[in-house]
Amino acid sequence: MKKPSIIISSCLLGNKVRFDGSGKPHKWVLKKLGPLVNFQGVCPEMAMGLGTPREAVRIVKDSEAKTLHLFTSKSGKDLTDEALDVTRRMTEAMDTPDGIILMSNSPMCGIKLVKVYESKNMIPHKDGEGFFAAAMMQKFPNAPIIEGFRLGDAKQREAFLSHVFSLQAFKAEVNSVSTLQAFHRRHKFLLLSYNPKVYRAMGPLVAGARKDSLPEVVQNYIILLKDVFQKGRASAHGSDALLHLYGFLKPVLSSPERHEILNTIEEYRKGFLDFQMPLRLISFLNLKAQNPYLGEQTIFAPYPKSLSY
Ligand code: SF4
Repeated sequence: MKKPSIIISSCLLGNKVRFDGSGKPHKWVLKKLGPLVNFQGVCPEMAMGLGTPREAVRIVKDSEAKTLHLFTSKSGKDLTDEALDVTRRMTEAMDTPDGIILMSNSPMCGIKLVKVYESKNMIPHKDGEGFFAAAMMQKFPNAPIIEGFRLGDAKQREAFLSHVFSLQAFKAEVNSVSTLQAFHRRHKFLLLSYNPKVYRAMGPLVAGARKDSLPEVVQNYIILLKDVFQKGRASAHGSDALLHLYGFLKPVLSSPERHEILNTIEEYRKGFLDFQMPLRLISFLNLKAQNPYLGEQTIFAPYPKSLSY
């Protein structure tokens, strides 16, 4: 199967493109994710022709005009027009990716909490977004996007990877009403475990799909996929999905097995266990039950297993 395409800040790949001539290699991205995806490394500051090493840049807010500008931090050169022009040209030239990974705290690449100065000498507010990141989110509003350091957080990493690989599979597989229905069926418990409300909104969309409305339905489904994974998995939703899976196995389980699985789900719900623990137990018990509907559910492997940290 085709690998997901990921646009990534070039410095996270270890390329020496930062203002001080260094890179910022992300070990997990390079070692684990790299072999399973196609990376397109981008550095908007290098694309602006700033070279390396270079003077650092910062976002400065014009409080009266309520506009944001990009200035060099020491010499105070205004690079706003170049930044906007380069980000527009870069994003226009890109195909829609299956995921985006950007460097945090950068006036160009940071997705959120980027420093914004009211004037050059004041203490900054950490509430901005980088020029390039903002353009990417506008151009590709439904693509999974994350800052590199957040991949160290298990919940955020799982949500991002589940979204990337689900989206890539969706784009590769869905070309008819029947393949849409099959995709939706296999992803039921994965989607439910993240956001049951959005999953319920997907039902009528899939049920109402017809050959002539398929392109529109596919677009709307991709928008809802983004909504499903956006906030990560709450333990209440995760445990509800696990109990639902357990219900399929219950008739063939012994009393000690039922007791064990229910205890494990409850411990996950209370925050004492990771989601993978009860999920693996259910997967193991389905070896005995051999329920084909559960067997095809992507919740058991939403992305390659080697991507666990
Ligand atoms: S954060 Fe973005 S602009 Fe800065 S060096 Fe990395 S890729 Fe280039």
